[in-house]
Amino acid sequence: MAMKDGARRSVTILGSTGSVGCNTIDLVEREPERFVVEALVANNNIAKLAEQARRLRPRFVAVADEKAYLPLKDALSGSNIEIAAGAAAVIEAAARPSDWVMAAIVGAAGLQPTLAAIRRGATIGLANKETLVCAGSIVMAEVARAGATLVPVDSEHSAIFQVFDFERREAIDKIILTASGGPFRTLSREAMAAMTPEQAVAHPNWDMGAKISVDSATMMNKGLELIEAYHLFGLPEDRIDILVHPQSVVHSLVAYVDGSVLAQLGTPDMRTPIAYALGWPRRMATPGKRLDLAAIGNLTFEAPDPVRFPALRLARAALRAGGATPTIFNAANEVAVQAFLGRVIGFLDIARVVEDAMDAMPGIALGDLDDVLAVDAQARRVARDLVARLAD
Ligand code: NDP
Repeated sequence: MAMKDGARRSVTILGSTGSVGCNTIDLVEREPERFVVEALVANNNIAKLAEQARRLRPRFVAVADEKAYLPLKDALSGSNIEIAAGAAAVIEAAARPSDWVMAAIVGAAGLQPTLAAIRRGATIGLANKETLVCAGSIVMAEVARAGATLVPVDSEHSAIFQVFDFERREAIDKIILTASGGPFRTLSREAMAAMTPEQAVAHPNWDMGAKISVDSATMMNKGLELIEAYHLFGLPEDRIDILVHPQSVVHSLVAYVDGSVLAQLGTPDMRTPIAYALGWPRRMATPGKRLDLAAIGNLTFEAPDPVRFPALRLARAALRAGGATPTIFNAANEVAVQAFLGRVIGFLDIARVVEDAMDAMPGIALGDLDDVLAVDAQARRVARDLVARLAD
């Protein structure tokens, strides 16, 4: 759905209180003549959500946590904003008419709201990669059926989206996802074993939510992105490479059959890929620092280490197995990351839980959304048992 000339683009922000959500709001507020906010959604951060709602005056605000309803109603009393709570309210927010939706809820919790926006044919800025990892084929079939548009927000997929020749796919040899390598890029496995949640969330280049920061440290994030790229760009797993690039300046590359390699570059500021999706198909200005390659001087690249970072091997195995296995991979990772952040298991246990959950469950075919939800729930139970055993 293209932007209507002269009309403001109405925007729904799922996960407005998170890192991507706040960056989206920053951009929306810079161009009030271009955007109007329809709905905001969070889990339970009432203080931030109420403050955003008072500033942006959306028509509808929803929280997933039902206990947050009364405090939110209180915080927004006299504002005339419609308020609702619970999982159905979050889906309703996504289903309400708006031109553009930011899908920035973290984890598989974003799946059903994102699908609701897809089913009404919206243009969606997709940050919530877990949606594509746990239900990629079903989601992409719905995108095609409903005529929705997914504009990727992950900086790597935004980069590829910008240099991928969709009209001449046969000319594409492979895509190359860059990875910063995270805060533990140079550590030995012995050193990694002792790393704390605080050390894992201290990403060298990006300021992000806790879950994706841990995913970056394990490189599960790149594994999730590999599966996300497979669904977004329709290339087989063996034509998606991963390249470690610690400076996070080259955001990803597309290699063509004639030997040309096209890349998109920029400073590591999420407002650039968010702005690309928010303004799409037009570009919009962002306030971030401009890229100064002379000041940076050197850009370096290295192959990822599959021994220290087993996440990449697991993600490739999940993608090759197909069916329910990527759903299991994602759900087990979410449980393991929570357990690590809660200091119940160690850093290296995250990949162990994911691998053991994948081994413990059959990679059955997924017919519909109910199958996905059932596998997701079962994988969480299996992963929680594995966590409990490791914690003993
Ligand atoms: P944050 O943890 O910072 O924010 C998560 C958001 O989701 C919050 O608004 C949170 O609300 C909301 N939320 C959590 N659970 C629910 C739920 N069940 N229903 C409704 N809302 C919920 O995450 P990020 O912004 O870092 O990441 C969001 C997504 O974007 C992830 O999928 C991540 O992988 C992806 N992404 C993030 C990037 C980044 O730079 N941060 C870069 C690229 C992709 P509350 O505050 O109330 O808990």
